[in-house]
Amino acid sequence: MVTEQAIEIGALKTEMVQAIRFFHQQGWAPATSSNYSFRLPGQSDFFVSQSGVDKGQFQSQHFMLVDASGKAIDDPRKPSAETLLHCAIYDLLPDVHCILHTHTVNNTVLSQSLAGPLTLAGYEILKGFAGIGTHDVNIAIPIFPNSQDMSTLSQEIIDYFKQAASAPYAFLLAGHGMYTWGNSIADAKRHVEVMEFLMHCEVLKRTMR
Ligand SMILES: [Zn+2]
Repeated sequence: MVTEQAIEIGALKTEMVQAIRFFHQQGWAPATSSNYSFRLPGQSDFFVSQSGVDKGQFQSQHFMLVDASGKAIDDPRKPSAETLLHCAIYDLLPDVHCILHTHTVNNTVLSQSLAGPLTLAGYEILKGFAGIGTHDVNIAIPIFPNSQDMSTLSQEIIDYFKQAASAPYAFLLAGHGMYTWGNSIADAKRHVEVMEFLMHCEVLKRTMR
């Protein structure tokens, strides 16, 4: 018998696959890069993309269940190499149910060229972030140095969030990509689109100077 929860998980996987295919078509998730996760309300286990799958070919079966420490649950496959970063974000932000990570030309170039955080201010599209109702805001997107050591990197992110006055809407890894999230898949996908639009604006502004 198919349970109600299994039907809900199936629908969420389908929604995620549609978002991932869209990101791939935009050139925001080339080849096997980028990773994605979601979790059900009230659960610490989460579904994360399997390591090494081309995002143009990504399907529902490429999601795998891991526990809050990123360990696969009854699954011999390898979760994304960056699963520990998802663990850190879910632990820090209990209302978050979806985390999306893209590798785009704009987020790679900007994160590598800025000395400090990316500041976004005065843009109408900032209203696309959950909780923002005006262009008249100034938000900071932190940039962390890239690393292949996920436990050190996740600790750095945890330390940043713990001292920040409020959680950022996203963060960048220098020369690598962007992480953003939301209370739902739709919110997180919208945040990816808002961030990519804004980073494109920021790159253009710098080249027009
Ligand atoms: Zn990555």
